[in-house]
Amino acid sequence: MPTILAGEDAMQACLAAVRRAPRATALFCDIDGTIAPIVGHPADAVVPTRFKTLLRALVTRLGSVAFVTGRALDDGRRMVAVEGAAYVGTHGLQILTADGSSFTEPQAERYIDVVQRIAALAAEELADLDGVVLEDKRTVLAIHYRLAPDADRARHEIVARVVEPARAAGLAISTGHFVYEIRPPVPVTKGTATRRLLAGRDLVTAVFCGDDLTDVTGFEAVHRWAEADARRYACAVAAVTAETPPPVTEAADVQVAATEGMYEFLSRLLAAAGG
Ligand SMILES: [Mg+2]
Repeated sequence: MPTILAGEDAMQACLAAVRRAPRATALFCDIDGTIAPIVGHPADAVVPTRFKTLLRALVTRLGSVAFVTGRALDDGRRMVAVEGAAYVGTHGLQILTADGSSFTEPQAERYIDVVQRIAALAAEELADLDGVVLEDKRTVLAIHYRLAPDADRARHEIVARVVEPARAAGLAISTGHFVYEIRPPVPVTKGTATRRLLAGRDLVTAVFCGDDLTDVTGFEAVHRWAEADARRYACAVAAVTAETPPPVTEAADVQVAATEGMYEFLSRLLAAAGG
């Protein structure tokens, strides 16, 4: 079965750009679903060793490599465990550059105290609810209720006891599958973090690999960055399964099978970079 599903020409153009100037190439890479196969429980997800080996080699050859995740930064870093790379956590709110400087997106920084106040409230108010799991990502509080025996009741109580007070305190709320996320009300995305990491660098090629809706902001960020200068080249690579949301494939230049095709693509990238 082919692992490169669409965009062969775009891939060849990308590889040619990397071949011309590997040290002027930036690689941005999502973790879950892109280099770590999706599993039932996110805590069980791992980046396979062969991916880590490949990514370590890419770090030595390319201008920069960054891992960009919705997980807390430290969690993403623990999973990938590749030195010399930048890490972006909580969808752009936390950034650790390759030279080791770590910061919270400045516009979100001033909300940390209030997020932490809501985290303390949640720990107290939700303690009696079975199957409700809090994930404190410092700048973001995630409240998971997938394991609750009565999900409707859990959702009702979470909203009444924590989501409403969080909203009243000026925080933004996003919902997902059996999860509420309480976050600073600022327009920070994987795309804004990508732009921040590209800014002021002497780079000509940027590649963003991802698999989900939040990665589309990264795809758009590298495309816009390339449009701003005729010498620049950008490539968005989607790791695709039967469940991939259409906006992801529509925004991608290259589609590969998750995660086997991503391994193939990154191997070709390494070969183009002389590794
Ligand atoms: Mg993902």
